[in-house]
Amino acid sequence: MTVSKIGVIGAGTMGGGIAQVAAQSGFEVILNDIEMPLVDKALDRMKAFFKRSQEKGRMTEEEKNEILSRLTRSTDIRDFSDVDLVIEVVIEDLDLKKKIFGELDTICKPEAFLASNTSSMPITLLAGATKRPERVAGMHFFNPPPLMKLVEVIRGYFTSDETIEVVSAVAKKMGKTTVEVKKDSPGFIVNRVMMAHYLESIRLVEEGVASPEDIDTAVKLGLNYPMGPFELHDFAGIDIGYFVAEYFYEEFKDARWNPPQSLKALIRAGRLGRKTGAGWYDYNN
Ligand code: NAD
Repeated sequence: MTVSKIGVIGAGTMGGGIAQVAAQSGFEVILNDIEMPLVDKALDRMKAFFKRSQEKGRMTEEEKNEILSRLTRSTDIRDFSDVDLVIEVVIEDLDLKKKIFGELDTICKPEAFLASNTSSMPITLLAGATKRPERVAGMHFFNPPPLMKLVEVIRGYFTSDETIEVVSAVAKKMGKTTVEVKKDSPGFIVNRVMMAHYLESIRLVEEGVASPEDIDTAVKLGLNYPMGPFELHDFAGIDIGYFVAEYFYEEFKDARWNPPQSLKALIRAGRLGRKTGAGWYDYNN
C-alpha cells in the first residue's frame, strides 16, 4: 500500500516539524491538536522556517504556497478517517497515547497504519489499544525534525514486515535515513547508547578521574562528537536525562542504570540545565 495522506496528531515541537517535513516531501497532511491556536502556532513556526529558506534562495514563493496547500488544520480526530498513516506526536503520557490509539483504530480505515513518535513508551502497549497491532510501529524522529536526518523505525511485538516497509519508505521519502529497531526495547538505539555514555561520564566525575569540562573536551576532540555529555544534558534538560535513567533502571533492574547521586543532587537543587540558569555548569555569570 502506498501512503499519500498522513495525519499528524499533536502539533507541538515535534508534531509541527514532522508535519512540515511530510508536506515538504509531497504528502497531503492533516495536522491536529486540541485547540486551533496550537495548530496555528505550528503553522507560524513553519512559515518562519520557509521565510528563512526563501531568504537563502532555497525555496520559491510558489514552492512555499504549494507546500502550505498540502496542509490541513484540524481539532477533530474524526478528520483522520481517510488518511493512510497517522503519526501520533502528543505529550509523553501512556494513558493518553493508549486512548488516542483506541480512538484512531475506530476512526481510521482498516488498512491505515498507525505510528508513534514516543521516546520511551512500549509500542506493543500502544498497539494493544487497537485491533490492528500488526499495523502499528514506532517512528522516532529527532529534534528538530526538519533538520535531523535519523528516524528509528521500531517493531512492536506484533508489527508486520509490511508495516515496517511502508513506514520506512515514508521516512525515506521525507529524506530521512532509517534504522530498524528489531525489538521493542527501552530507549531503542539512540537513547540507550546516549544514556550509557552519560552515566559513565558522571561516574568518572564522581570517582575524581576528570572534571565535566575535561570530559566534554575529551569527547568532542577524541570522539568527534559535536557536544560533550554534560553540555548536551544541560541543553536538553537535566530532568529529562534523569527521567530516562530512572525508567531504564525500573525496566532492566540493573545497577548500571541507577541514577548517580550527583545527578539526583542536581534534581533536588532545581539545577535542571540551561532552562533554569544552571545544571552541570552555571549560566548566570
Ligand atoms: P509538545 O509538548 O511540544 O507537544 C505535544 C502536543 O500534543 C501539544 O501541542 C499538545 O497540545 C498536544 N496534545 C496533547 N493532547 C492531545 C490530544 N488529545 N490530541 C491532540 N493533540 C494533543 O511535545 P513534543 O516535544 O513535541 O513531544 C511529543 C512526543 O514526541 C512525545 O511522545 C515525546 O516523547 C516525543 N519526542 C520528543 C522529542 C523532543 O526532543 N522534544 C524528540 C523525540 C521524540
